[in-house]
Amino acid sequence: MYGFTGNLLRVDLTSAKITREKIPEDYLRDFLGGSGLAARYLYNEIPVEEDVFSENNKLFFSAGPLNGRHFPTSGRCCVACRSPLTGIWLDSVWSGKFSYNLKRAGLDAIIIEGKSPQPVYLYINNDDIQLKDASKIWGKVVSETVLNIFDECGHTRGSCCAIGPAGEKLVKLANIMGDTTRAAGRGGAGALMGSKKLKAIFVYGDKEPAVSDEEKWKEVIKEITKKINEQPVTKSLKAYGTGVAMAAASQTGDAPTKNWKLGTWDGYSKISGITMAQTILRKHSSPCHACPIHCARYVEIDEGPYAMKGEGPEYEALGSFGSMCLNDNLESIAYANMLCNEYGLDSISTGAAIAFAMEAFEKGIITHKDTDGIQLTWGNTEAIVALVKKIAKQEGIGDLLGQGVRKAAEVLGRGSEEFAVHVKGLELPMHDPRAFFGYAPTYATSPRGACHLHGYVGGYDGRGVMPEAGLIEPQDAHALTGKGFLAKIVQDYDSVVQSSIVCYFMTYGVGPGDLAKALSVATGIHYDAQTVLKIGERIFNLQRAFNNRLGITRKDDTLPKRVLTSTEGGPNEGYVPNLEEQLKEYYQLRGWEEDGKPSKEKLRELGLDFVIGDLYV
Ligand code: SF4
Repeated sequence: MYGFTGNLLRVDLTSAKITREKIPEDYLRDFLGGSGLAARYLYNEIPVEEDVFSENNKLFFSAGPLNGRHFPTSGRCCVACRSPLTGIWLDSVWSGKFSYNLKRAGLDAIIIEGKSPQPVYLYINNDDIQLKDASKIWGKVVSETVLNIFDECGHTRGSCCAIGPAGEKLVKLANIMGDTTRAAGRGGAGALMGSKKLKAIFVYGDKEPAVSDEEKWKEVIKEITKKINEQPVTKSLKAYGTGVAMAAASQTGDAPTKNWKLGTWDGYSKISGITMAQTILRKHSSPCHACPIHCARYVEIDEGPYAMKGEGPEYEALGSFGSMCLNDNLESIAYANMLCNEYGLDSISTGAAIAFAMEAFEKGIITHKDTDGIQLTWGNTEAIVALVKKIAKQEGIGDLLGQGVRKAAEVLGRGSEEFAVHVKGLELPMHDPRAFFGYAPTYATSPRGACHLHGYVGGYDGRGVMPEAGLIEPQDAHALTGKGFLAKIVQDYDSVVQSSIVCYFMTYGVGPGDLAKALSVATGIHYDAQTVLKIGERIFNLQRAFNNRLGITRKDDTLPKRVLTSTEGGPNEGYVPNLEEQLKEYYQLRGWEEDGKPSKEKLRELGLDFVIGDLYV
């Protein structure tokens, strides 16, 4: 089958047995790769009744049909599992060269099961595939781990994803890091990898995967690259990175401030991508593979307490360690972000947990006795950096915060639940549903908890269109109707984006019809805008069914009270999303029952008949 290798590698860490399997063609045709293929496998293979750290929880690494052949922004790879943080579905897409090499090693996916008795890493050099001893690199930070593996294997090319000390210690905010600085975050996949004693996966491949038509493939790459380059947002991302959005925060009110309480702050411009470009930015770091956008940042801080060199913070980290904590010291944010990359921690959830702790400290729910003397006052840069280390090392209060704000509030009590800002256990990303109402139903229903990427509505709400899905005119960001519709179509499209796999930032200029054309040329299967949106809907509903089996119902589709309350001041003061109305519209369009399950009719329509017996007993 063109566009795919058709091969899956199954690695049983308990027995150290490695086998190669053929992937059924209908899985690839109907679910593509990445997140969709992961859902198709893991729905069947992860038992719902066991602990998340059971050896039967599995990690599924997968590329998609557009990876491996220099398609624009195709340096993306997906990892999926049942989340150690939330207990429900988790998939996470990261950038770099992993999927490029995976496809060229003749593989679409790797499934990791069981637990190794001692630390190992998986080595894939085309057909030479082995588990190697990782005891010498166990305990090392991510960059050292990757350097050691490249040295030991004698490779200069290839790609490596690895966990840091946080994953080894099973910190539930732990990431898997790709090529040292690209994060597969949100939900603790790194902790699951740590529980399996799998330190890293190295992959190198040099076999070019076939596409159905070489000439048309070159044309479609040219066409899509042109569309991406024509988008004004491409220029600003190239110049200022994703942090450019922080510069507009005073106008948009999108950046959560003081743990989602305030609507305005005088620090946004001090930590924006524009300020970064004028101060610590040195040159653009190597972008993700085949990316014409180049949003990545390389920063250097020569001296002082936050001296560092390396990948700079993107918008999410500027929000979580910056505006959320009222910290306008850009250097300290870059440093905290670097620590997250090295320890292998999710910078969104880590910063959000620190902001939560600062509010608990302000309210006297925790005191300096709980923090080993750290004065957790707003904007205290030393405290922020110290807490990142404590979370990574599970020291003192860091042990509790590393379990996420839901658990921390459960343990602390005394009203802290009121300001523990999460959905289904996942801390909200740095986009405010009071600024863009479309985020409200998106966060409430996303399969991994509050997520701006399973429905990147920020690219549409108030500004964009998707005519193929019926969004002809941009919606008003505060419109009281239509947001259920917006959430659904963007979630469906993004399910395809992360199954193809390409970067969300290309979707500003590339719609479902464009992606369908590329998928058709890659695979030789005819896809059009409607068929790809249907694939997205199928994937989204299968992930929903995965969660339904774990007990997720309509009552879990909600938002924390803090974001259903007006901000204090700012451009969105007085605006609160009408979530219940939005969800009514959303449920109706989704064809979901009142208890939150996809209806039998919807499941049949999507070819998900195999789910019906599990959900309707
Ligand atoms: S736009 Fe940024 S995150 Fe996306 S692929 Fe390009 S460099 Fe990577």
